[in-house]
Amino acid sequence: MIAKRLCIIGVGLIGGSLARAVRAAGECEHIIGCGRNEASLQTAQKLGVIDSYSTDAATAVADADVVVLAVPVGAIGSVLTQIRDALAEHAVVTDVGSSKGSVVDAVKAVYSDIPVFFVPGHPIAGTEQSGVEASFAELFQQRRVILTPVAQTDVGALEQVTQLWQCAGAQVSTMSPEHHDAVLAATSHLPHMLAFALVELLNQRDDSDEIFDYAAGGFRDFTRIASSDPVMWRDICLANADALLELVDDYTQGLSRLADMLRNGDADGLLKTFEQSKQARDRFIG
Ligand code: NAP
Repeated sequence: MIAKRLCIIGVGLIGGSLARAVRAAGECEHIIGCGRNEASLQTAQKLGVIDSYSTDAATAVADADVVVLAVPVGAIGSVLTQIRDALAEHAVVTDVGSSKGSVVDAVKAVYSDIPVFFVPGHPIAGTEQSGVEASFAELFQQRRVILTPVAQTDVGALEQVTQLWQCAGAQVSTMSPEHHDAVLAATSHLPHMLAFALVELLNQRDDSDEIFDYAAGGFRDFTRIASSDPVMWRDICLANADALLELVDDYTQGLSRLADMLRNGDADGLLKTFEQSKQARDRFIG
């Protein structure tokens, strides 16, 4: 058994899905949930996602073998401050935040250095939905989870968190927090910025109702992630601003090059760009 007592702080889409998956795998005896809103914790208990709950983080982590911080990245520092003196001596703590450099900084601000029992992590899985009602046990099946241990991270703690994700069906890899943030800025954070920007651009137009009326599959596909939780994505973008800004600049330049091709009627240039892009995406999907 990976954890007798598992504590999930933030029983939403990710925390709820992990709780469901670990329970389905029979890898813990008791799951205690924690959050600010008692009604949603009651819902989580009714749905069988958690066995018990507390709105007090220090109470929730007492005696827990593994503590998972599944709150927005902007809240990790304050949650750590609340649980700091209440953790069991043997407890392993991990998080699921979508940016890792900022989490490492938040942990350092509370502990002065990353404690050996803290294993930063990020499941590369999710949906545009939020809340425990949207959670499901299969969310992490065949999906990647990146752990970003630091030099002093305890090998046993890393192994325990690896097993936690593996029992949820995920493939676990490790990399540095900096490398994680560069990779995820490109594959996740930039696409979210673009989706939010496009929808907002069209939303500001006088004829936006008509435009949205005629929007079809392509628009839906491209903008699905603009339905994601704004608070969560504000936190992620701010937390990974440096890596993201570099990519926004690159993207802006790429768009300018396409605009020049349009202005100059450069059919060959457009075709070449579109062909290269299609080949790359077909390869990725394949
Ligand atoms: P979610 O469904 O909104 O769940 C977040 C949970 O955190 C809620 O249950 C909320 O409950 C709790 N919470 C929020 N602020 C809190 C605070 N200040 N203190 C304590 N609890 C707090 O969000 P999610 O999609 O699961 O995202 C959670 C984390 O997973 C984020 O760090 C995100 O970066 C990461 N992540 C998300 C995805 C994705 O696609 N959604 C993918 C990978 C990783 P209360 O309101 O009751 O407090």
